[in-house]
Amino acid sequence: MQANFEATLEYAQSQDQVDFLYPFRERFLFPQHNGKDVYYFCGNSLGLQPKSVSYLMNQELEDWAKYGVEGHFQARNPWFSYHHNFSESLAKIVGANKEEVVAMNTLTVNLHLLMLSFYRPEKGRYKILMEAGAFPSDQYAMETQVRMYGYDPEDAIIEMKPREGAHIIEEEDILAAIQEAGDSLAVVMFGGVNYYTGQFFDLKRITDAAHRVGAYAGFDLAHAVGNVPLQLHDWNVDFACWCSYKYLNSGPGGVAGAFVHEHHGNNPKTFRLAGWWGNEEKGRFKMEKGFTPQKGAASWQMSNAPVFNMVAHRASLDIYDKAGIPALREKSLRMTAYMEYLLKDISHLPFTIITPAESNRRGCQLSMLFAERGREVFDKLTEAGVIADWREPNVIRIAPVPLYNTYEDCYRFYEVLKEME
Ligand SMILES: *Cc1c(COP(=O)(O)O)cnc(C)c1O
Repeated sequence: MQANFEATLEYAQSQDQVDFLYPFRERFLFPQHNGKDVYYFCGNSLGLQPKSVSYLMNQELEDWAKYGVEGHFQARNPWFSYHHNFSESLAKIVGANKEEVVAMNTLTVNLHLLMLSFYRPEKGRYKILMEAGAFPSDQYAMETQVRMYGYDPEDAIIEMKPREGAHIIEEEDILAAIQEAGDSLAVVMFGGVNYYTGQFFDLKRITDAAHRVGAYAGFDLAHAVGNVPLQLHDWNVDFACWCSYKYLNSGPGGVAGAFVHEHHGNNPKTFRLAGWWGNEEKGRFKMEKGFTPQKGAASWQMSNAPVFNMVAHRASLDIYDKAGIPALREKSLRMTAYMEYLLKDISHLPFTIITPAESNRRGCQLSMLFAERGREVFDKLTEAGVIADWREPNVIRIAPVPLYNTYEDCYRFYEVLKEME
């Protein structure tokens, strides 16, 4: 793939000219630096705002003004069934049936709710396997889940670490650890793509290994959703959750998502904490005693849809529907390889790329680990109008996002680094 890359502006611009996704950039608002769009490489942390959001937001405000409570049924996008507007798009993005996905709550809340269904420790089977150094929210969530049932996290949580001196986790080690935990393992709860290194795990292999020992497999897809191709249904993943404000561009604190495999979601015996919005729709307003879960992941909903919070999500998924995951992945593979090619040409700054080099083991993020001067380089990038992401103690993460980044952006980033003393 790298054979014909060139580290020149002309080459980068020529790639943009033949990129059929290039016009999608026009659909987003870019922060400004000295009167120009910034070079934005932070879509892994907070995606940009689609231009259509303010118009669509205004439409809901108008409908609220015009209809009041009648808006539940009269609004142009009736609020009663507003969450249905996401099923089809989300199903395509995560590789699921429509009934297996739902947009609701926020990520960590969904993680807890799904653990309440899938982490049901019993005598002997009570352990959770996760990444060491997982995103802090996930660590806190797992610790408090095991404590809730009276276990000691030191004993009940198995943490997978990279080997001595390595940065990424060997998949063989994960599979071996699952095997070794055997009957004691209740749930494997892993990130889909590690937030720090950008490593994309083989979710199918991990799921198969978990099932072989009788455990469930669930994934936090915060850095995977909208970034890498997923087939949650076919891989037999039991549950998953994600946020929508990173690659999915749905705004800070935007509504999150959840996946529950139909084996569980369509089984009324699967335990779930209930609220009225998870009840069968036809019985919802009867106000009767007794919870009857509707089919699928939607039965995990508790409350009525936070419509204003969901508007940006809908705007963003419209764009995903048009671009499509296969085309996005194709561009992402190529553009990330180009960025990597450029970075390898920089020899005067003390960094190494710790993200896996194999394209099927990463999304678009590249993590640059600095031996020294990391923070200084980051600050100089910021001064030059580049928005990247700094992670303590010494990593700069950059994500050339296929929806709105360009080959020229990658080249400009390289140019700033190249000219740095
Ligand atoms: C971004 C991220 C979160 C953030 O959780 P919220 O509940 O959305 O605040 C949690 N876990 C992972 C792995 C993340 O990348």
